[in-house]
Amino acid sequence: MEDRQRTVGQRHSNVFNEIHDGLPRQGPGNAASTAKAFAMLGGLPVGAKILDVGCGPGLQTVELAKLSGGEVVGFDIVQTSLSEHAAKASLSERIRVMVGSMFVLPFTGENFDAIWSEGAIYIIGFEKGLKDWRPLLKPEGYMVASHLSWLKLEVPDEPKAFWAKNYPAITTIDDNLKIAEGAGYRCVGHFMLPPSGWWDAYYLPLERNLRKLRGKYRDDQQALTEINGAQEEIDLYRKHSAYYGYVFYVLQKSAAKPIRADRAGSRPRE
Ligand code: SAH
Repeated sequence: MEDRQRTVGQRHSNVFNEIHDGLPRQGPGNAASTAKAFAMLGGLPVGAKILDVGCGPGLQTVELAKLSGGEVVGFDIVQTSLSEHAAKASLSERIRVMVGSMFVLPFTGENFDAIWSEGAIYIIGFEKGLKDWRPLLKPEGYMVASHLSWLKLEVPDEPKAFWAKNYPAITTIDDNLKIAEGAGYRCVGHFMLPPSGWWDAYYLPLERNLRKLRGKYRDDQQALTEINGAQEEIDLYRKHSAYYGYVFYVLQKSAAKPIRADRAGSRPRE
């Protein structure tokens, strides 16, 4: 993906870009899970408006346009291959591609029937994303986010140490459901992305990239460290997928206003 390299080259090394180059997805996910979550949304109007935050290459964005028959905004910090995917599926008229930061979404008012985010809400933080984006949802609009979660209460040291270092905010499904409730949502349901959703369009193509790059950078210690870091994450999942996974949280905006941490004890307001 040349665009990705051009835009994020300042912040990420070339090796990072090469590691992620050309992957069908930039995080775990699959079409069946997008469809399963979508099927849980009741009463979406014809021509629903959906915002897909951190859409990446946008396989799920295209899927959402097909499933909803509505208009989908694919939003990402970098220019991605979404427009090509949309054109190929003859959906360019219903898929709008926007570049910007999820920390400052350029929308106002309660305009979206659903906000979607697969494998990306961790960037802003689960709670902050749910709270910050909530005002953009219509009353009773839906928030669907897939998010890394502990699947068990007891976790072996190896995955515990890895995620303590790489994503310390990881918590259990129950905790995330409580966070969602406190952020002003009711839970419609939740389910786990199956392991094939990690492998098929993400880890296996990523591993193929790593194999190629190991040869290319065999004399470059810094590059090899990055390559090995990515491999470590994949190996960890191979060994410990029973303990953590991506969970789809299907939430509905409730009338209850989010509880503001900095206003604990006072009247909750938005
Ligand atoms: N949903 C996609 C991509 C997930 S990877 C998929 O499942 O394939 C996370 C995505 O978030 C990447 O495409 C990355 O470019 C994007 N991203 C990173 N920081 C961002 C930010 N501040 N605002 C919006 N998108 C961001």
